[in-house]
Amino acid sequence: MALKITASSCSVCGACEFECPNAAISMKNDMYVIKATACTECDGDDPKCAAVCPVDGCIVQA
Ligand code: SF4
Ligand code: SF4
Repeated sequence: MALKITASSCSVCGACEFECPNAAISMKNDMYVIKATACTECDGDDPKCAAVCPVDGCIVQA
């Protein structure tokens, strides 16, 4: 299970990148992406990336 960033919604603000405790978020080809194999969905806690993302509905269930 993992979350994903909706590329068409993402403003590429970078806020999520350093919030991830698993370093699952990185920039690829000028877009931020979540590496599905590294994302643990914050182990049942509120997803830290989605909490800081300023765009509603940008980070969603993959
Ligand atoms: S849900 Fe948690 S583990 Fe997954 S990308 Fe977001 S911050 Fe990282
Ligand atoms: S916090 Fe949201 S808008 Fe900003 S880079 Fe991450 S996914 Fe994109």
